[in-house]
Amino acid sequence: MAVHAHPDDESSKGAATTARYAAEGVEVLVVTCTGGERGDVLNPSFQPPEGHEFDSIEGRREVRRLEMAGAAEALGVRQAWLGFVDSGLPEGDPLPPLPDGCFALVPLEEAAAPLVELVRDFRPHVITTYDPSGGYPHPDHIKCHEVGVEAYHAAGDASRYVVEGGAEPWEPRKLYYNHGFSMERMRAVHEAMQGAGLESPFGDWIESRAAREIPEREVTTRIQSAEFFAARDAALVSHASQIDPQGFFFAVPRDVEVDVWPTEEYELADSRVPTALPEDDLFAGLREGGR
Ligand SMILES: [Zn+2]
Repeated sequence: MAVHAHPDDESSKGAATTARYAAEGVEVLVVTCTGGERGDVLNPSFQPPEGHEFDSIEGRREVRRLEMAGAAEALGVRQAWLGFVDSGLPEGDPLPPLPDGCFALVPLEEAAAPLVELVRDFRPHVITTYDPSGGYPHPDHIKCHEVGVEAYHAAGDASRYVVEGGAEPWEPRKLYYNHGFSMERMRAVHEAMQGAGLESPFGDWIESRAAREIPEREVTTRIQSAEFFAARDAALVSHASQIDPQGFFFAVPRDVEVDVWPTEEYELADSRVPTALPEDDLFAGLREGGR
């Protein structure tokens, strides 16, 4: 179960990993906390599909549902919505208040309840989500971390989140944080691009991140996923309102990427089974035969 804040996050964080496991026969469910209703158009060539508009909360929700369905198909995964409303990324100094009723303002118990129910129903062995910083300072990403951790710990406890007629408690075995945008990866790809005489998209990113002195989180688990970069790219392109096919996500030629960085990274945040670090499999310690 891959828990994400907005439609498109599943395609930019750990997408090839989910596609790989789905292709190997693992049941993969992407969970999307919000409808992405406050996402701006980030692709200059975007046109809403015939009969749709992108100017209202409802219109955006509709369009982004269509985009998400295409991405899930490209990755070969199932997908579920938690049904919360996008908080938007507040900008300005001082920051404006968050909009009424948005996901980030929902109290934790209420925000985590539908995810706890989904965990009990789907019964995942492994949950992935974001680290406590959100990985990116969007209030919905931080909230996504909070509900992901809460559901991981509470879903197996019959005394919590009691729902009349609800599914039986279920205890997931491992919890991971996504770390696809590590400085190590950015630097390696940046240097390979420069070495090949190509313009790197990561120069500004590396500088601004270094300036903000964001501490690097530990990577415990690397998943070989290059074979599924094409599926990831198809999923990204499906999010036409958000992803510019000429932009940032497509600035590194795939052969360079496969050569320099063929993996996606995770941090094991909690495990209820013994496992040896570093790992190359999110299901290490859970497979029959001990692998
Ligand atoms: Zn997001």
